Amino acid sequence: MHLYVHVPFCARRCSYCDFAIAVRREVPSRKFVDAVLAEWRGWQAHSAWIDSPSLATIYLGGGTPSHLDAGELTRLIEAIRRDRLVDPDAEITLEANPEDVTLRNAAAWIAAGVNRISLGVQSFDDAVLKWMHRVHDAAAVTGTMSVLRAAGFGNISVDLIFALPDALQRDWSRDLDLALALEPEHLSLYGLTIEEGTPLGRWTARGESMPAPDESYAAEYLLAHRALAAAGFDHYEVSNAGRAGHRARHNSAYWRRAPFIGLGPSAHSGIGERRSWNVREWAAYERLVDAGEPVVADAEQLGTAQLRLEELYLGLRTSDGLASHLLPEAAREGWVRNGWAVASEGRHRLTPEGWLRLDGLVRSVA
Ligand code: SF4
Repeated sequence: MHLYVHVPFCARRCSYCDFAIAVRREVPSRKFVDAVLAEWRGWQAHSAWIDSPSLATIYLGGGTPSHLDAGELTRLIEAIRRDRLVDPDAEITLEANPEDVTLRNAAAWIAAGVNRISLGVQSFDDAVLKWMHRVHDAAAVTGTMSVLRAAGFGNISVDLIFALPDALQRDWSRDLDLALALEPEHLSLYGLTIEEGTPLGRWTARGESMPAPDESYAAEYLLAHRALAAAGFDHYEVSNAGRAGHRARHNSAYWRRAPFIGLGPSAHSGIGERRSWNVREWAAYERLVDAGEPVVADAEQLGTAQLRLEELYLGLRTSDGLASHLLPEAAREGWVRNGWAVASEGRHRLTPEGWLRLDGLVRSVA
């Protein structure tokens, strides 16, 4: 079993972000942990535990989980451990923003059992970070890495965003070099998407910001692939690359369709062919927990067509690829001919050129 906890609190909203977050100066840590543990207790009688009795990974995502009071975070993990066996080598990840990484917090996270940090860096260009409405500046990141290493973290992932508007004149190659110089074990690279309802969505609608052209998106993605490969990273999933032995195990479980429970506002759960998701907003979630009501907003049982789509999408996004017989013959040949996939050992694996077209390729064979 794999466990995700969505911690929705952030100091402010980043300009591009449409995640389910709650902007709070003071984080209601105790209230949040109480609410999540109430939801957790509701899962304890679920039949999925019969086949999957222990937790192989725990992922605290957000939002900004590093904003939670470290003592409350410890209480949360301890309570989970009291109810369920957590595998001795379980991966326990905490998403952190640089401004929360103090030696005191980092030591408390380690003591609580967190053994992997996913650090929201995004860029090393202060003008870009300001445009993104990020709280930290570039100089803070190097210190953050030193603090995490000093506290004992040996598994750190760095998040970067590429394909920013040309007007920002962001030097993507420099940012990649600076990220690699920090010697993280893992990197996640996300192309900027423009979502309605975000500040960036409004700037774009008013013509004040122009999305990066497709050619820049592709060029930056392929540049990152080459830089990471040259630095010894395995680009094992469309957005993720790791050093040997450092693939993200929690996310890999999603891609393998392992069972997972999601706690907290907007969290999704997937057991077998059933998918369910919680109410999106913290205020609604809190109200339902207080009233003793279920926090699930909706659920569905995946049908044949959805399962096929999921199988294609999950298989093709990783470097493990998809069993070739699941693809029509024309696609098998055409993708290889175009350089979008390689075929070996009965599997088709997309190349970075193929990953750039992932959605279209999946749609073409679904
Ligand atoms: S810190 Fe992350 S979750 Fe919070 S607003 Fe920024 S991008 Fe969104």
